[in-house]
Amino acid sequence: MAPPHSGGPDAAAGEAVAAPVDQQQQQRPISSILIIIAMQTEATPLVNKFQLKEDLDAVFPKGAPWVRYYGTYKDLQINLVWPGKDSTLGVDCVGTVSAALVAYAAVQALKPDLIINAGTAGGFKAKGAGVGDVYLISGVAFHDRRIPIPVFDLYGVGSRKPCSTPNIVKDLNLKIGKLSTGDSLDMSPQDEASITANDAAVKDMEGAAVAYVAEMLQVPTIFIKAVTDIVDGDKPTTEEFLKNLAAVTIALDESVTQVVDYIDGKCLCEL
Ligand code: SAH
Repeated sequence: MAPPHSGGPDAAAGEAVAAPVDQQQQQRPISSILIIIAMQTEATPLVNKFQLKEDLDAVFPKGAPWVRYYGTYKDLQINLVWPGKDSTLGVDCVGTVSAALVAYAAVQALKPDLIINAGTAGGFKAKGAGVGDVYLISGVAFHDRRIPIPVFDLYGVGSRKPCSTPNIVKDLNLKIGKLSTGDSLDMSPQDEASITANDAAVKDMEGAAVAYVAEMLQVPTIFIKAVTDIVDGDKPTTEEFLKNLAAVTIALDESVTQVVDYIDGKCLCEL
């Protein structure tokens, strides 16, 4: 299958397409999953839950702050990576650049069968989102890559679909909605217009970047995002985000565990 935005009919229509997965890959039990997370606060409870160990031999290049945890949970090999802390400023390396780099390096080194990009997000109450809701994402796109030239505009938006998981949708009690990604925690009026055009229920700073890499390297990916703050509400985003982060992280981790338990022993075509 041609990748999206390759000049084929899908590119012309601007329609999102899921990463191509071959038949064999579909029917083999999933044995290795890669969980990509942006922040240490989000990662730690899952590291504890799955009893993962930190990799001190580093599969990543020297100097990269990226951190990898690994272990076996039921029949699954789990790798969990987060981009680490900025070496100068000491804060978590959130955003698309670090997310894409760590996704690329981790997939190259670890060859996972499936990626789960898990994290927090801002939610839109106009789309039914509330603090603590956990979303299984049905489509991702960027909202801050404005290139008003034909076809480059579609490249900028970068609409992509996660791998199809009709049974997870049916069997687990997760909200379903689209995700819009940009490199800012706040939202400019231009971002807002793009987020509306993307039909997003939630916004984050990593999802569409992980989707770009996953498509390039042909790894099926799902996105699980938990709402820490309401973007179209009356509270300042930063305040609400920091107040809810710890509690919402617990909800996120419960949902990720549910999904991992569901995946265990199944092939992609059963998800
Ligand atoms: N002040 C925070 C910075 C985190 S940035 C700190 O103390 O470290 C926010 C992170 O949460 C990003 O990884 C992003 O994906 C997610 N996020 C949560 N709410 C968001 C929102 N309203 N908009 C964009 N990203 C959001």
